[in-house]
Amino acid sequence: MEKFVLPALPYGYDGLEPHMSEEQLRLHHQKHHQAYVNGANALLDKLSDARKNKTDFDVKAVLKELSFNMGGHVLHSLFWKNLSPKGGGSPGGNLGKAIKEAFGSFEQFKKEFSQAAVSVEGSGWAALAFCRKSKHLFVMQVEKHNLNVYPGFSILMVLDAWEHAYYLDYRNERAKFVEAFWSIIDWGEVSRRFESNS
Ligand code: FE
Repeated sequence: MEKFVLPALPYGYDGLEPHMSEEQLRLHHQKHHQAYVNGANALLDKLSDARKNKTDFDVKAVLKELSFNMGGHVLHSLFWKNLSPKGGGSPGGNLGKAIKEAFGSFEQFKKEFSQAAVSVEGSGWAALAFCRKSKHLFVMQVEKHNLNVYPGFSILMVLDAWEHAYYLDYRNERAKFVEAFWSIIDWGEVSRRFESNS
């Protein structure tokens, strides 16, 4: 089975300054994201060994840990790609229209998404998700990396609201980090995800 690998960032470690410092981004990518990649790989090895040797394992515990580490890997991979040194502004095109239709205005969407990020309990994420079947856009809170995920919904945009994402830069002021996010969000990438799912 293929191993998960840490994806390279599409910009330099200092590319998102001053909104996200080089030190913060380097630590987040090289230590935290790498740990989820290593964790997922170790669990897949453990599963494969247990299956090969026909040994019993705690299925519930392994699956819980696996969804945590894989969720961490998948969400961070989406996160890096929906940030850009040339980000900010508001989305145009079909995504802009769909956001206006779903939320009433871009400002309302921004408010709801920001509140989702600021208020997620403990460690977690805010996400914009799209349901292909109903064609609805949803703001979603993901606790840890894997709780409250809506099965089958495509994730268009995420914001990491774990303390490890902002503590060096903003200390306990998560709301300031959330505000800074709007200056580095890459609407081009979010639009591409929307177009390929709608
Ligand atoms: Fe993170």
